[in-house]
This record gives sequence, C-alpha cells and structure tokens, in this order.
Amino acid sequence: LRHGFDIKRYIRTIPDYPKKGILFRDITTLLANLHAFRAAVDELAWPFLKGGIDYVAGIEARGFILGGAVAHVLGRGFVPIRKKGKLPYRVIGQEYALEYGVDTIEIHADAISAGDRILLIDDLIATGGTANAAIDLIRKSGGEVVAAAFVIDLPDIGGSKLLRDKGVKIHTLVSFE
Ligand code: IMP
Repeated sequence: LRHGFDIKRYIRTIPDYPKKGILFRDITTLLANLHAFRAAVDELAWPFLKGGIDYVAGIEARGFILGGAVAHVLGRGFVPIRKKGKLPYRVIGQEYALEYGVDTIEIHADAISAGDRILLIDDLIATGGTANAAIDLIRKSGGEVVAAAFVIDLPDIGGSKLLRDKGVKIHTLVSFE
C-alpha cells in the first residue's frame, strides 16, 4: 500500500454475525481511527487522482461513508445508491438475488447522465451480487463504470473475479481468505 499503513489490523472480525458460521468483517473500528480512516480513503482514491471520474457512487450504507470521503478527495460529486423506497424522487431500480429471496437497490433517474464516468464504492465485496446490481443500475442510467473499489475483498467467495471477468476494473485494499 502507498501509505505503508496497515489498515487490516483496524478491521474487527465478529464470529457468528449476522448468523452462525459467518465471520463478519466490521469496519466501524477502522472508521473510528483517524489514521486508518484517512489511509483507507486515500488508498481507495489514489488510482483516480489523475482524473477520469465524473461522480463517485456509493452503496448504502457503509459505501456512503467511504464514498462521500472519496468524492471529497477526488473533488467530485457523490451519488447514493439506496435500498428500495428510500430515495424521494423518480428512481431506476435493479433487483438482485440474495441467499434467500431478492432485494432491490435504486438510484435517482436523473443522477447520472449519458457518458458520465463513475467510480463505485462499497466497504466489502463477497459474492459480488450487490456491486453487480449497482453496476447494472449505473449502466441503465447511461453511466460508464470506470472501476469499483472496496476496502475488503473476500476472494474465495469469488465476487471480485466475477466482476473482473465481466470487464469491470476492481480495486481492493485488503483481503481475507
Ligand atoms: P455481496 O453482495 O455478497 O458481494 O456482499 C457485499 C455486501 O454485503 C456489501 O454491501 C457489504 O457491505 C455487505 N457485507 C457482506 N458481508 C459483510 C461483512 O462481513 N462485513 C461487512 N459487510 C458485509
């Protein structure tokens, strides 16, 4: 990493959350530490400092915290991608599969214009289902996904590979096997 700062040790692991057998990677401990938070935001942003991004889009809810800060660093506006029913104006929606059932994320219909270059941000990529739905939403809006960046990759689950195979540039900071 560019900073040489070990952000991984600020990520807390909670066993059996939200259910038995799951190791939940908790970034609240990273966010609470000024050095770790700054290092994570700077590392997410640095490949894009030269330009080429029009908007940063973040996925609710942790993608808002990181994405807002990355947008500030890049000097660009922020576009929220939210759970169904939360955005007040006209929306475009995208369904995606969960382990049991489906969920929907939404974006304001006028948030992105044709040709806008978007950097997508979230805290973690596992199956890639959430990020994939967000990418589909951005593309439906006419935007181009320049890259998707995450603090944490769970490479064994395969989401980052799935999205790379789909032609999306993926930038991640730390991985857990
Ligand atoms: P995916 O759709 O399977 O890639 O899961 C990624 C989404 O679920 C992201 O929005 C994450 O915030 C959330 N998520 C899944 N597992 C974890 C975890 O261990 N810690 C924090 N967030 C997680």
